Amino acid sequence: MGAKIKGKVVIFSVAVAFAAFGDSLGNIGDVRLKGYIGERLDMMIERHVAARDVDYITAPFKEKTERNGWWQTEFWGKWMHSSVPYLRYVSNVNWNGGGGASLEDSIERGIERILSSQEKNGYIGNYPDELRCGEGWDVWGMKYTMMGLLHYYDWEYKSENVKCKKDRAQCALEACRKLCDYVIAEIGPNGRRGRELWQTGNWAGYASSSILEPVIWLYRRTNDKKYLDFATYLVKGMTEPEAGPRLLDLALKGVSVADRNGYGNTPEKSGDYVMKHNRWKSYEMMSCYQGFLEYYGVTGRKDLFEAAVKTGNDIIKEEINLAGGCACSEAWFHGAKKQHLPYIHLQETCVTTTWMRFCEKLLEITDDARWADQIERTFYNAYLGALRSDGGEFAAYTPLTGNRWHGMNHCFMHTDCCTSNGPRGFLCFLKKLFATRGDVVTFNFYSSALVKGELSGGRKVAFDMYSLYPRTDYVRIVSHTAGAVPVRFRIPTWSAKTEVKLNGKALDGVTAGSYFTVERDWQFGDIMEVKFDMPVVAHTLGHHVAFTRGPVLLARDSRFADGDLTEPFRSGIRDGQVMPTFAAVRTPSDDVWMAFSATLPIGSHTENPEASNPSTVFFCDYASAGNTWTRANFYRTWFQIEYGPQE
Ligand SMILES: [Zn+2]
Repeated sequence: MGAKIKGKVVIFSVAVAFAAFGDSLGNIGDVRLKGYIGERLDMMIERHVAARDVDYITAPFKEKTERNGWWQTEFWGKWMHSSVPYLRYVSNVNWNGGGGASLEDSIERGIERILSSQEKNGYIGNYPDELRCGEGWDVWGMKYTMMGLLHYYDWEYKSENVKCKKDRAQCALEACRKLCDYVIAEIGPNGRRGRELWQTGNWAGYASSSILEPVIWLYRRTNDKKYLDFATYLVKGMTEPEAGPRLLDLALKGVSVADRNGYGNTPEKSGDYVMKHNRWKSYEMMSCYQGFLEYYGVTGRKDLFEAAVKTGNDIIKEEINLAGGCACSEAWFHGAKKQHLPYIHLQETCVTTTWMRFCEKLLEITDDARWADQIERTFYNAYLGALRSDGGEFAAYTPLTGNRWHGMNHCFMHTDCCTSNGPRGFLCFLKKLFATRGDVVTFNFYSSALVKGELSGGRKVAFDMYSLYPRTDYVRIVSHTAGAVPVRFRIPTWSAKTEVKLNGKALDGVTAGSYFTVERDWQFGDIMEVKFDMPVVAHTLGHHVAFTRGPVLLARDSRFADGDLTEPFRSGIRDGQVMPTFAAVRTPSDDVWMAFSATLPIGSHTENPEASNPSTVFFCDYASAGNTWTRANFYRTWFQIEYGPQE
């Protein structure tokens, strides 16, 4: 047969890894998602991304009346970060959603309005001159505007399938340069305002300093050393001042993300929620590390990379819950150990999206499959759970137990940070599902999809993937590829005994938590089959129990009408115990993606033979739980375990 099978990880050269940075569109359009996940994406693009009123989110840029220190200017940049890649997605896959043309019109109209709002000095924003580059979210807003402009530039520059308007793309790049020049002149080294950039904005300088990410993007597109120098200045501010962000030394010392206050700063204990000096804000902190990774990509500065990896590992250990979400009221709080308790404002969608972006970047650099494990779990649970079932909106917070509801009205607008951020998260899954790099092909995620890509020499590869995963445990991949190429399959850490077959023959050497490589002379019609090991497993914490199946967290939902969701479990259930009494059953409605019956030791009584019997109740996937967004639709993931007299 001539198949050479290797279980080992293929190591990429540093040069190749660096070359992969900075492309905002990646392989968008090379993957066509089908099935449940594909439908959710189509609905989100049509009803959320394409439905955005671009006049509404660009109006503040013309008005410049912001005196409250608010963040109206982040919405357009965030929208561009998703609308441009999704326009490419729908353009390349013959999308039937109907919004492609209007999406393109909206992008064009928005860019026109943004460009025409730019002042002679380069400023794009809505703060009056005397309040700029100081308190509030002005610099943060400019960061997102830079991202929006650069996405527009990338789309025009790279697109083959849409009418090219190169001049306007150049204008967008020019506008971005001028905007960055403005920031440098005002609060860069020896800036006119007489303050350092890290001293502006909120959260100990995190929010403003996270502008580092698009500054590096700009440097990559212009090759102008001025922007690399500015980035170096930013990194200095993020690492050296005693009271500043301290993103390097505290990380390398192993200080957990929730404990980083108090090192040279005096964080507010109470007062207004938006606080100037606290270092516990999850979204903004991770956004800074995103910048570190970009900076590492051009300079190779290893200590910044190590700080980012250490922080990522700390977040997994201390903060991430079984839904792959984290943060309480948007702050780190050692949440992993508290996830069974009703903490307020859990899993801000901005945090969920940013965690996925952070993991995407770490996966890209380290090629460590564990980061893909993280993206997958977050995507199927915290992320899809926040997306309203019609695709039109993201919740701001999604509790592990409770009900789901709309987000805020930020800055007195009919939008908020979270629903604006949401669509960017799906891109992490879409871009990493199937990836080609150099001459290696990788499947990170499994979903019904048609995928294709290009190897370094221009050779084309394509596969069709048929799967109901993670509703079922089985994936079938059919080759449309001819010739020798190593194809890697991610074997999730939770799948202890994964079976992989090539044309019906079982392959050896499959290891959980790594990539399994099949190197062979591929033929059209070769069939790869992967069967995951995904029993339901119990997790215990602080006298509570929860259940997962593969990457999916399970929940009881009031729609099953199967008894009191607060009824305790009897003692005796062990952490890590496999639960054989769970069985897949017909879902009660299309609202519920997957459903299971389970016969479990629930109830307060054991004192007669009848009461000592277990009860049968129902579970669904966490993302489907409570997705009617009504108060009556309650769900629960962590269940109390009864206490005995000795406790
Ligand atoms: Zn938010």
